[in-house]
Amino acid sequence: MGDVDRHDRRDGIDMTTDDTVTEKPDLEAFRTDAAAWLAEHLEPKPRSSGKRPWGVGSDSLAVFHQLTFEEERDLLQANLDWQQKKYDAGYGALTWPVEYGGRGLPGAYERAFRREESRFVTPKAHETHSVSMGLVGNTLRVLGTPDLREQFLRPLLRSEILACQLFSEPGAGSDLAGLSTRAVRDGDDWVVSGQKIWSSGAQFSQWGELLTRTNPDAPKHRGITAFMLDLSLPGVEVRPIKQMSGGSTFCEVFLTDVRIPDRYRIGEVDGGWKVALTTLGFERGGGGEARGGTYRDVFELAKWLGVTKDPVVRQELAELYIGHHVLSLGARRAAERHKAGLPPGPEGSISKLLFTRQQSRVAETAAHLLGPRLAANTGEWGTFAWSSFLLGRVGNRIAGGSDEIQHNIIGERVLGLPDEPRGDRDVAFKDIPR
Ligand SMILES: Cc1cc2nc3c(=O)[nH]c(=O)nc-3n(C[C@H](O)[C@H](O)[C@H](O)COP(=O)(O)OP(=O)(O)OC[C@H]3O[C@@H](n4cnc5c(N)ncnc54)[C@H](O)[C@@H]3O)c2cc1C
Repeated sequence: MGDVDRHDRRDGIDMTTDDTVTEKPDLEAFRTDAAAWLAEHLEPKPRSSGKRPWGVGSDSLAVFHQLTFEEERDLLQANLDWQQKKYDAGYGALTWPVEYGGRGLPGAYERAFRREESRFVTPKAHETHSVSMGLVGNTLRVLGTPDLREQFLRPLLRSEILACQLFSEPGAGSDLAGLSTRAVRDGDDWVVSGQKIWSSGAQFSQWGELLTRTNPDAPKHRGITAFMLDLSLPGVEVRPIKQMSGGSTFCEVFLTDVRIPDRYRIGEVDGGWKVALTTLGFERGGGGEARGGTYRDVFELAKWLGVTKDPVVRQELAELYIGHHVLSLGARRAAERHKAGLPPGPEGSISKLLFTRQQSRVAETAAHLLGPRLAANTGEWGTFAWSSFLLGRVGNRIAGGSDEIQHNIIGERVLGLPDEPRGDRDVAFKDIPR
């Protein structure tokens, strides 16, 4: 088995934002102004109990987009347009330091704004947008040179450009430090060749945060260098992958003798592991967006099928409710850590596991209730739609570190169990059998 370091170290990561601000408005006045501004620009959401009314509107429960290229591009564009509007009005980067284009306000203002925003109809979220601002933007904020911050931060925050994450390779996923895309120094440039995979949103991005191998003589964690890669450079080929759930949200990215100027390097030469851990820290700390079926959707399904008196079904529904409640307690705990300016701890692994388990339970209960309707499309609203949730939710068990990796982290860092045997930690990368 490979190395599990992808998700288990946080050395040197500063997750906090600078709370210094020249003028901090009164929170309630801020909330009132934000609500008025939102009402000017958006339609209010119809009042509801939080459940989607049975038989009304789309019944999609897809975890990943199942859209054509044009549909997905338009969805993303709607996200970008909304972010630009917010940014220009001063609501788009509330907690970011003023020097990087934010307002330098504490997290309470962000939460207040989000609560107000949630009462209105906004474009459906798209993960490339969160990767761009939340992962790449934050990494550059913490580790970028002044020139990189100057070039990228404001355009990323204002969503004028998008940046994806170019980490995983066919031979380096959980064992990310085993990556083999080569970068060789040539004057002021680096010449890069190799292949990335699983690159979410690369087909819509202008830039990517790229990890490369620069020193094969060093042990694997110590010979990696990170860059910002302009995806329009000669030698870069982005190929979307068709997924079994229907959509095409990931890409393969092939790099052939791509010349990256050294000024696009993030961090030290051979110091890219720290950059990787910083980005991954933001990835796990962010919690991500959950799309697809929830326990509420299963309740509605059970009611529609008229099986809520069945004792076994009742037990399953109770289990789902408990799972939902425990999950929200974990989310609150993570929010408290964030509020206190602490980096996400190993409990992020617990939350992630609880989340993927809950999704599995939701899927299994829906499958049990639906029987053959899950596999054969009878045309009934809210039935066959579950099949895309069943297929897509598996992706969440892998993304951001697989379930097994989360177990390893909890074993080693929470329970203090002996480390997994890692024979290749001190061996030169070129000598590791592959
Ligand atoms: C929805 C989604 C979005 C993604 N987006 C991106 C992206 O934008 N950019 C990017 O770079 N990558 C992205 N990824 C890739 C993701 O980070 C990797 O898929 C993940 O790290 C697992 O790597 P792998 O697929 O190579 O599987 P492997 O690492 O080969 O794992 C295969 C199996 O072996 C198990 N395993 C591996 N090592 C151990 C161990 N030490 N102990 C126990 N079990 C182990 C795993 O749990 C898994 O079940 C995305 C993945 C998904 C699913």
